[in-house]
Amino acid sequence: MTMAQKRDYYEVLDVAKTALPEEIKKAYRKVAIKFHPDKNPDDPTAEDKFKEAAEAYEVLSDEQKRARYDRFGHQAGGSNGGGPNMEDIFSQFGDIFGGGGFEGFFGGQNRGGRRVRKGSNLRIKLKLDLEEVANGIEKKIKVKRYVACNTCSGTGAKNGTDVKDCGTCHGQGQVKRVVNTMLGQMVSSSTCPTCNGEGKVVTSKCDVCHGDGRQLQEEIIPINIPAGVAEGMQLSMNGKGNYPERGGVPGDLLIQIEEEPHEFLKRDGNNIMFDQYITFVDAALGASIEVPTIEGKVKIKVDPGTQPGKILRLRGKGIKDLNGYGRGDQLIHINVWTPKVVNSQERELLEKLRDSQNFTPNPGKNEKGFFEKVKEYFQ
Ligand SMILES: [Zn+2]
Ligand SMILES: [Zn+2]
Repeated sequence: MTMAQKRDYYEVLDVAKTALPEEIKKAYRKVAIKFHPDKNPDDPTAEDKFKEAAEAYEVLSDEQKRARYDRFGHQAGGSNGGGPNMEDIFSQFGDIFGGGGFEGFFGGQNRGGRRVRKGSNLRIKLKLDLEEVANGIEKKIKVKRYVACNTCSGTGAKNGTDVKDCGTCHGQGQVKRVVNTMLGQMVSSSTCPTCNGEGKVVTSKCDVCHGDGRQLQEEIIPINIPAGVAEGMQLSMNGKGNYPERGGVPGDLLIQIEEEPHEFLKRDGNNIMFDQYITFVDAALGASIEVPTIEGKVKIKVDPGTQPGKILRLRGKGIKDLNGYGRGDQLIHINVWTPKVVNSQERELLEKLRDSQNFTPNPGKNEKGFFEKVKEYFQ
């Protein structure tokens, strides 16, 4: 930028020093639309203002850069004295304007030849079981994707000399058109129909890819799945998507996580829940029982006199936190199993127990008040 004195970034975007990230994003969108070079073909300062806003946004949208700027001002801006270039600015728009980018916003205008073409993204779904989610895993995934044709190195041409600048657009990838509008004449540029915006035409096509510059290939891609991922999360691997036709950079591989439910262990955040049924004999007398965990069987002790609803905790037997904050626990919910059918012998034993001293509800010290209150209620 050729400005003598840099303006305050907050002033550039017209936001308060205390503005929230969402407000900064909004303000930037407003300024960017106002000064977009395509909308201001006759205003030479528009591009400077446009760049100025992009530079301000680059700093204020980054928590660390913003904090540094707040403390030290412009001199802390660091390495990039010149501010971002136009390519960077347009690449920012993906997240500012949502999926469609700036082009989508302006109704299909293509900035064409100036941008590096990117291939399409590949999307896959990846099923993980609870053990894999808990510990993370490296998966090898087979994908079919377009890669650069290795005969023509992605150019689509038979020989290096078989690629020429497009005659219609002279290599620009776009053609300009003057349109009369209510506001006067506007120059609009659109994608060149001859070369589809590529700026180049192939005069003699490669025999292998027939001019596409790419070929389908099956590939095994290793993917490191971190521990703690969850249903619906999306991981992305840069450059593992499809290569575009005739040169450019490949798209990304987007991996959507699906959790396969476990037979009896349930996930709750980073904890694992398990319902354990015990007999009322074990509940009364105490027992040592085995419970399943994601690491195999674990023995736990049930104390004599355990009431249903008690929750036992196995520390560190849950799921590793995605952000590295330790590991969850396994919680064992104790249920007491009541027999649904009894034979005559069992009935006799149970009848004997019915009236015995300790089989009527015998609250502990703390619950005594409660039971007395219930008694009073019936009187
Ligand atoms: Zn080829
Ligand atoms: Zn052309």
